[in-house]
Amino acid sequence: MRVGIIGAGPAGMTAAFELARSGAEVELFEASPHVGGMARSIPLWGQTVDLGPHRFFSRDTRVNRLWLEMAGRDYDMVNRLTRILYKDAFFHYPLRPFNALLNLGPLESLRCLASYGWERLNPAPRPAPDASFEDWVTSRFGHRLFTIFFKTYSEKLWGIPCSELDADFAAQRIKKFSLGEAVKNAFGADASRHKTLVEQFAYPHGGNGSIYQRMADRCLALNGRLHLRTPVACVETENGRATGLQLADGTCHPFDHVVSSMPLTDLVSRMAGAPAEVVQAAAELRYRNTILVYLHVQGDGLFRDNWLYVHSAGLATGRITNFRNWTPHICQGRTDTILALEYWCCGGDEVWRSADARLIDRATRDIRMSGLIGDRSILDGHVHRIEKCYPIYARGFKQPLDVITRYLRTLGGLSVIGRYGAFKYNNQDHSILMGLLAARNILSDARHDLWAINTDYEYQESSVITETGLLEEPPRDTQA
Ligand SMILES: Cc1cc2nc3c(=O)[nH]c(=O)nc-3n(C[C@H](O)[C@H](O)[C@H](O)COP(=O)(O)OP(=O)(O)OC[C@H]3O[C@@H](n4cnc5c(N)ncnc54)[C@H](O)[C@@H]3O)c2cc1C
Repeated sequence: MRVGIIGAGPAGMTAAFELARSGAEVELFEASPHVGGMARSIPLWGQTVDLGPHRFFSRDTRVNRLWLEMAGRDYDMVNRLTRILYKDAFFHYPLRPFNALLNLGPLESLRCLASYGWERLNPAPRPAPDASFEDWVTSRFGHRLFTIFFKTYSEKLWGIPCSELDADFAAQRIKKFSLGEAVKNAFGADASRHKTLVEQFAYPHGGNGSIYQRMADRCLALNGRLHLRTPVACVETENGRATGLQLADGTCHPFDHVVSSMPLTDLVSRMAGAPAEVVQAAAELRYRNTILVYLHVQGDGLFRDNWLYVHSAGLATGRITNFRNWTPHICQGRTDTILALEYWCCGGDEVWRSADARLIDRATRDIRMSGLIGDRSILDGHVHRIEKCYPIYARGFKQPLDVITRYLRTLGGLSVIGRYGAFKYNNQDHSILMGLLAARNILSDARHDLWAINTDYEYQESSVITETGLLEEPPRDTQA
């Protein structure tokens, strides 16, 4: 069996490794010079940093086993501290009611409680109660808390009003969490029940991307072939089957099966023979880009969080990562701090084309205004751009997505996986699971529904990674 794989991110790399170790003939094509995709790590100013914060977490035993197989003993458990910076105060995220009440003050807290109570007693008569992100959050937290804790950040991230954002985004990311649940947990209920409440995570000594570098090394040792700097132009099809790949240099490569983690919209719009309505549907799906501005700041001890969500409207950045607070291994004995400030935009926005120097100036202004670094010197700046990294769940996005998935399901010999690959707001674990199950489908007559992962995928064995390895747990009700 000859399998051609597009993309060396967590999804494509996992598929390649799993196939190679089962004896398949694997050839992977990656457009960039690196493996790891958005989850890779980069060397910077003598340290190792990720592309923004990259916390690995899964409850799926298959995913955890694979991650541990790659990490070996080379990881630390990191205590998660992530807070929201809003109006010069730090609010714990996930929200902790007492901390929130204290920071908001008695008057604002009363307003929030009244707004929450109003929502519980008078649920608004909406035709589809969970139609928008705003509706979804308001019905669970009240409108006032929605405005303070969800609106500004979400609108910075997605670039559209929350009333235009699909409730699916909240359902995937916040799940069954509500203010009532938060209060119950504050009084000691089982805090590990909800994925938003997880307080520790495993982090590799070599940076998040070292997992995928090790996968690539193992894959090569198993005779898998990895072609870096080799963009795929399109998937070739014949008689309702994928038959191979055409590379950007025009060469064609036949395969028995193709696994794609390239952007879904590119995949279908470049596929000869895709019906016009499918190509039209692809044109309706949009992505957000990320600009990461790294700042090299003198000294350490700036703030304790792994990362901070920035809700203050006066700051353009949406999230600030402090790489000193992950594991000492990645700082490599240096005493300075690397921060990453995130800015989100669309491909056509002016900021996407801004010169690096302007972006570094903007980040410098933001970090000074935030008060987080006091009068420490900023020694240097570096810009990294990631295209199409957030599939936008705009209201109604499922309609064009359904048109595309229905068509792709009819094609034999093709597995479509990954974050922009399947247009799913995946974390690493979801993309790893997609790669793993794509490989199992190809190798056996298993029929895992890859489109269901990160939506309503059920799994049987549940576990978490601890400092001593895998801790098996009873099955959970939801996919983490
Ligand atoms: C700022 C940021 C923070 C994040 N934080 C977290 C976190 O805390 N925890 C977490 O678990 N996840 C996090 N993620 C998500 C995580 O990075 C992704 O879920 C994961 O990388 C997706 O893997 P993938 O393989 O699906 O896609 P990608 O990582 O995007 O890999 C796709 C690969 O395909 C290649 N490619 C694209 N087109 C072509 C082509 N035509 N030909 C050949 N190759 C091509 C790309 O170059 C890329 O290497 C974060 C993402 C971002 C952007």
